[in-house]
Amino acid sequence: MKIGTLASHSALNIISGAKAEGFETELYCTSDRVPFYRSFGMEDSIVEIDSFDDILEMDLSDVIIIPHGSFVAYIGSERILNSDLRIFGNKELLRWEEDRQLKSRLMKEAGLRVPREFDRIDEIDSPVIVKSDGAAGGEGYFIAANKEEIEGKLDSMEGYTFQEYIVGTKVFTTYFNSLARNRLEVFGADIRYETDADANLRFDDKPSFVVVGNLPLVLRESVLAQYYEMGLGFTNAFMREIGQELAGPFCIETIIDKNQNIYTFEFSGRIVAGTNIWIPSSPYSFVLFGEEMWMGKRIAREIRNLLDIGKLDDVLR
Ligand code: ATP
Repeated sequence: MKIGTLASHSALNIISGAKAEGFETELYCTSDRVPFYRSFGMEDSIVEIDSFDDILEMDLSDVIIIPHGSFVAYIGSERILNSDLRIFGNKELLRWEEDRQLKSRLMKEAGLRVPREFDRIDEIDSPVIVKSDGAAGGEGYFIAANKEEIEGKLDSMEGYTFQEYIVGTKVFTTYFNSLARNRLEVFGADIRYETDADANLRFDDKPSFVVVGNLPLVLRESVLAQYYEMGLGFTNAFMREIGQELAGPFCIETIIDKNQNIYTFEFSGRIVAGTNIWIPSSPYSFVLFGEEMWMGKRIAREIRNLLDIGKLDDVLR
């Protein structure tokens, strides 16, 4: 059994972790990126392909594929759901994540505090972030201080979601739900830094939310305890709504305001790039394991444990 992923996003994290756990690995890599991944000593993993789409045509029956952000963006949840790929994690959750209504339903079901949404312009009583349907990575979003500003810009609300704009710090907390150990692990937290929403000086109302990278964050322990509860709420809601146990990494994406309220605006049902800062270990994963443990290694360890107890097929959905 091999572990494989597309050469992008958190591939260094995933492949190095799989190797550390003794797995054979496959890194599906377009030719332009081969020198980069080779420079990290990954030549024995590289499988050169013309386009990421090629993996849908290949025989990968002996490979467990680890989905990451670029994988989901390139292949799309529909094609993932319909493919024969043996995916570690939750194909179904990827679909819920892509659909704004399902996403919102799951967050509410999990008992998370979410930003208010407005159905009518005259109801708007706070600054808002306007999200156009189908936008990805915050592209095409704009912000407005009040409803008068919106009235000047848009004739209709069709095709947009109007969400209360939360001022605060963007905290991304990653979890690992282990079916082998039957426990939820808080893995690490980070701050997502976006240009130019996070720049101090700005002259427009259409800031770009393109992610530059992630900064490590160690939360106040009392706040971390709150995130632990939020994670439990999320896995329980997933079970109620989807009828499966959530397996592996996921992330709850929040903003903490000045009153310490935690607002969840998004989640990811897979490894997130923020875990790249926790190679070789996060403070929490070190406490949990007493050894270096990064997310790629954590995933491989879980696969190994599930293989040992004969439960791997339950999570390859
Ligand atoms: P991605 O898939 O990369 O997470 P996306 O298209 O799903 O992006 P969101 O994650 O919803 O977009 O939002 C992108 C950015 O917009 C966030 O990282 C955050 O900076 C900002 N943002 C989103 N919702 C809010 C909100 N309610 N209040 C304040 N800022 C917000």
